[in-house]
Parts: sequence; C-alpha cells; structure tokens
Amino acid sequence: MSEKDRLRTYRGKRNFHTTDEPSGDHASARDDEEPVFVVQIHDASTMHFDFRLEVDGVLKSWSIPKGPSTDPHDKRLALPTEDHPLDYRDFEGVIPEDEYGGGTVIVWDQGTYRPASHDKRDRPVPFDEALENGHATFDLHGEKLRGRYALNRFKGREDKPTWLLVREGSGGSGGTPDPRRARSARSGRTLRQVAEEADGGDEA
Ligand code: MN
Repeated sequence: MSEKDRLRTYRGKRNFHTTDEPSGDHASARDDEEPVFVVQIHDASTMHFDFRLEVDGVLKSWSIPKGPSTDPHDKRLALPTEDHPLDYRDFEGVIPEDEYGGGTVIVWDQGTYRPASHDKRDRPVPFDEALENGHATFDLHGEKLRGRYALNRFKGREDKPTWLLVREGSGGSGGTPDPRRARSARSGRTLRQVAEEADGGDEA
C-alpha cells in the first residue's frame, strides 16, 4: 500500500483548511536513520496520550488513556487509531473544537526506537511483522522514556483488538506524570501555555 492510501483514514477525518495538523502531503524521505517515535498529550474530549511509532513511512498510532508508565507492573491500555503522517511527530498546537480530535496537543516525548522482537528461536522478527502478529518489543531512546517496552494485542470487548503497553525489565517506579503539569519535549510548554498562546495569537 502506498503512503497515500495508508493515510486515507487520517485525511478523511480532517479538514485541513480548518486544522493546523499536517496533511502528510509533503512527507520527506528518511532513509537509513533509526525510526522515530513520539508521545503526544492530547487534551481532547477526554485527556489521553497518543503513542506513535514510525513504521514504513507512517506513524502507527495508539491512544493510551493513562499514558505510558515506566513501572513494569503497570499494563497500560492502548487503543489503535489511524496511521498518522510522519510530520505529525512535530505537531503541537490547538485543533479547533468542532474538528475531529478538537483540543490541545503537546509533544510530551520524542526520540528514536530500535525494534527488538525475536521469535522462539531468538531470531529477529521484522517490526511490521511483529506488529502484525500482535507482539512487538522495542527499545525507546527518548528524552523521557528510555528502555525496553512491549505492545501486545489481545481480544478486547466485542472482539475489538486492544493492546497493552508495558515496560519490560527493571524499569522505574515513576509511573506517568500528570498530563496537565507535564511539559513539552519540544518547547517546554504545558498544555495550558500552548492553548493560551494559540488563543492570544501572535506571541506564540
Ligand atoms: Mn489523540
């Protein structure tokens, strides 16, 4: 499938005359670099974290109501959402209220990741295949999240695919910060500051 086709759902939900979110039309190639990840905090109708991993030119995305935790005892529900364009990793701002996902977005964490899935005979599994199988392991090199995490799919309610994001290994006990106090890894701003600057216009 081409990148255009994979972003059809993403584009279908949004009006790019109204929202400042990227359309993904100007995606730049990113050859032989480590794939990127981003975690955004999205103060929409319900507050959540959006966890995105670069796979084959798009950002595979999950909505995580409680956010990723550094504590290996926490299993965090991760609901798959539509693929997003790569440019989305830089998006921080306010989505108009009557648009899909209306609300404020900050980039909470950003960095690269290294696929780390292996089969039973300890051979590396290509990352897209690992996701297809519903068992993906990866090492995050972010500013806040570092170390091994796993996304595992299970059959949720009404057989809807649902995933769990878990910290593997020793991890830490920090859990997840309060999304309203958390600061952007890009700009140091809180959700409230981004919202106020968008509101006030030109001081942004
Ligand atoms: Mn979201």
